[in-house]
Amino acid sequence: MIVTTQKPVDEILDFIAPYKNIFIMGCDGCTQPPRGIREAITISQLLELAGKLKNKEFVFKTGTCAKQCDSHLAAETVQQSNLLGKFEKPDAILTMACGLGVQMLAGIDPSIPVFPAQNTHFMGAEEREQGTLEERCAGCGDCVLAITGGICPVARCSKGLLNGACGGAKEGKCELSPERPCGWVLIYDRLKAQGKLDQLKELRPLRDYRVTGWKVTV
Ligand code: SF4
Ligand code: SF4
Repeated sequence: MIVTTQKPVDEILDFIAPYKNIFIMGCDGCTQPPRGIREAITISQLLELAGKLKNKEFVFKTGTCAKQCDSHLAAETVQQSNLLGKFEKPDAILTMACGLGVQMLAGIDPSIPVFPAQNTHFMGAEEREQGTLEERCAGCGDCVLAITGGICPVARCSKGLLNGACGGAKEGKCELSPERPCGWVLIYDRLKAQGKLDQLKELRPLRDYRVTGWKVTV
């Protein structure tokens, strides 16, 4: 299971404020507590109300996916619901999934910003006898994907830098693990594709390790 808690409505409002047509995607996978279509509709109603209080009109569409962290299921859901055609193209996507689902959706069409509605805290273990698994979320408890183009610096930078790059990358590969791409080069490329390189100038505060925790009350 992947344990999440919902981000404060005001924080989500800040992410989506520049956009109007927003698709909210639930996830019926292993997120705990559930974050499916019912929760997607509930948060759309909350955000609509909160937006009105700030004189901001959003147009929300909602849907859900069996498991957003599965590339086939995520792509199939997007295709079946014609997600990218619903507003011709949504201005942004807000996802109810954990950090894995956010990053999976963010990779389907890199020109559409994808924002997390949840903070992801920790994951239950999964054992596999074959195949590979790549870490995409370390459950830091304070998701920064909204400002890093949907690419996690905690899991994908070998040093877990919140303010990168370290300057050691060679030809896009990490100086510590040359077999893997530099997480911050990936972030740079993604923000450049979205015309948001200015975000790299913002200094992010040190991680607060107290929010990672070992138990979350739901
Ligand atoms: S910033 Fe990275 S480690 Fe933290 S919750 Fe988001 S995806 Fe997970
Ligand atoms: S080379 Fe890139 S991924 Fe590796 S430690 Fe430096 S910033 Fe992080």
